[in-house]
Amino acid sequence: MSIDVLIPESVDAAAEAYGDGRDVTVVGGGTIVVQLMTQGWLRPTRALMLSKAGLSYVRKSGSAVTVGAMTPVTDVADLFAPLGPCAANVGDNEIRAQATVGGNLCAPTPPEHPSGDLQGPLLALDASVRSTGAGGESTETVEEFLTHRDARLVLDLSFEEPVAGAFAALDRPHAHHPTALAVSAVKAGDGSIRLAATGAGPTAIRLSSAEAAADDPEAAGQAALADADLQDDALASAWYRERMLPLLVQRVLNEIKEV
Ligand SMILES: Cc1cc2nc3c(=O)[nH]c(=O)nc-3n(C[C@H](O)[C@H](O)[C@H](O)COP(=O)(O)OP(=O)(O)OC[C@H]3O[C@@H](n4cnc5c(N)ncnc54)[C@H](O)[C@@H]3O)c2cc1C
Repeated sequence: MSIDVLIPESVDAAAEAYGDGRDVTVVGGGTIVVQLMTQGWLRPTRALMLSKAGLSYVRKSGSAVTVGAMTPVTDVADLFAPLGPCAANVGDNEIRAQATVGGNLCAPTPPEHPSGDLQGPLLALDASVRSTGAGGESTETVEEFLTHRDARLVLDLSFEEPVAGAFAALDRPHAHHPTALAVSAVKAGDGSIRLAATGAGPTAIRLSSAEAAADDPEAAGQAALADADLQDDALASAWYRERMLPLLVQRVLNEIKEV
């Protein structure tokens, strides 16, 4: 079967080519989607390649930051925590150079292991997602966006630089592996704290119970278990995640407390 390949050269042309998203497969950096096509698990009839659409940028204005959907993950790796350290933890140099921020946000959730590490820090940062699709352009929170991420074309993400941020992930020394579990913390200008985790549900989840107990990092760590939907997969067991999630929550809260 032949594929109709669309390569728009502007944001407007990309939005027009995407239309209502029906029968269109978006290709960002392709680190996931090309593999799916090669293995025959995905057989698109129309592929929308965004490489020339003008969606690769990191714009800063005061404390406000806007990141284009096609920005390589490596280009946000030197930003503040939790986003910068999380991006620096994705894959290796080659993957970070090819993988895009929008592709990471929209990464499908395979049964083998979690995917889309940047969802965690973006959720903690309460980022806004600007997207287009059925009904035209709209802006919504990452939390809302994650409920229907396969039905929109992401244009960019906006968020404020926090007063403090922290990122902690499960790590196995000397092993190269996708992230099994990670926690992101953000302290906003009004002193409020937002916590989010990846590897604790099908997409990134907000740790609201832990946020409510944030003054006591140990109690917050235990409270986080009520927010999580921990599963066994190829990277870790639910048993192991249950023991590690409270520790990661404690670690990020202790880190931002020091600021
Ligand atoms: C060796 C290896 C190691 C990896 N390690 C990690 C890791 O440590 N952490 C991690 O999070 N991921 C990892 N990944 C997965 C992947 O590289 C990242 O999630 C990456 O950010 C996906 O971005 P992409 O641009 O390549 O996505 P693509 O493959 O282009 O697309 C991924 C999905 O998002 C959709 N999409 C892409 N752009 C948009 C857009 N603008 N709007 C709407 N939908 C869009 C596509 O249709 C597809 O469904 C790894 C992959 C490999 C091969």
